[in-house]
Amino acid sequence: MGSPTFSLNNGVQIPALGFGVYQATPEQTAAAVGRALDTGYRHIDTAAAYGNERQVGEAISASAVDRDDVFIETKVWISDYGVDSTLHAFEKSAGKLGVDGLDLLILHHPMPGEFELTIAAYRALEKLYADGKVRAIGVSNFTPAHLERLLAETDVVPAVNQIELHPYFRQSDVLAIDDDLGILTQAWSPLGGITTYFEGSHGSPLKDPVITRIADAHAKTPAQVVLRWHLQQGRQVFPKSVTPARIAENFDVFDFVLTDDQLGGIDALDTGVRGGPEAEVFARENFDFEIPEA
Ligand code: NAD
Repeated sequence: MGSPTFSLNNGVQIPALGFGVYQATPEQTAAAVGRALDTGYRHIDTAAAYGNERQVGEAISASAVDRDDVFIETKVWISDYGVDSTLHAFEKSAGKLGVDGLDLLILHHPMPGEFELTIAAYRALEKLYADGKVRAIGVSNFTPAHLERLLAETDVVPAVNQIELHPYFRQSDVLAIDDDLGILTQAWSPLGGITTYFEGSHGSPLKDPVITRIADAHAKTPAQVVLRWHLQQGRQVFPKSVTPARIAENFDVFDFVLTDDQLGGIDALDTGVRGGPEAEVFARENFDFEIPEA
């Protein structure tokens, strides 16, 4: 069974369940994306900063699946913010991916200390959208205050806001404003990956007894239960794995339904503590890399 879709605020359809490639090395990426496409995934989430756009593009063009049947999402890195630089960032990403246009292009982070540059980058996304080079535009890691400021200074309401969201960090304030504004929330680290690979955060929600008990009750795995929790609450997800068995497992989530009590039990695990860095970290001086031309 394929993934159902969600409608973006401009009517474009996005598969509800996609595939993430953060931390997949260039060597791992083409095989993992090829395997994901064979499994039935039709949405890939990459980023200029992940250094694997080229391999994502290679896997799509080597696949039997038509490029037009794959929803390609990528992100502009902060070193490319500014109207002209962001327009050029689109050219770099599209070139590496080997495509003429993108399905969704988003800003990777707000830069709270240089928000005018974030606005300029978003203005470039609006131009790419008006010119038909991208089918939708959006943002990532925006707080309610960032969204309010963006909306006050730009014209196109973002189609998505991609934020850290897993059972231990639910961001209900961001969910509420996304909902009010008609912005689709994309949950990054949907399985709580950030809780295991980022120093100083809590343990993996996949080991939480509340989740393992629900998994046992459905004869499913904790990862499948967590993905169902997101999907039933209307969030788009793209779990990452380079392991074939897990790529298959994470897509096998359309044959069971969590009860309201089970959804509520997982909601109650929220700690209010993020696994990833605060937005203020995203300043050019804290990141000493640029996105290469090719
Ligand atoms: P995730 O929650 O998808 O967890 C991935 C990790 O969980 C894997 O590395 C693997 O170790 C493990 N895993 C995967 N499937 C499993 C399974 N079935 N059972 C047990 N363990 C399993 O974490 P993520 O990679 O951080 O997030 C997913 C995607 O979100 C990324 O690949 C990327 O596309 C996106 N992302 C975006 C941002 C952003 O700032 N916008 C930040 C982080 C991630």
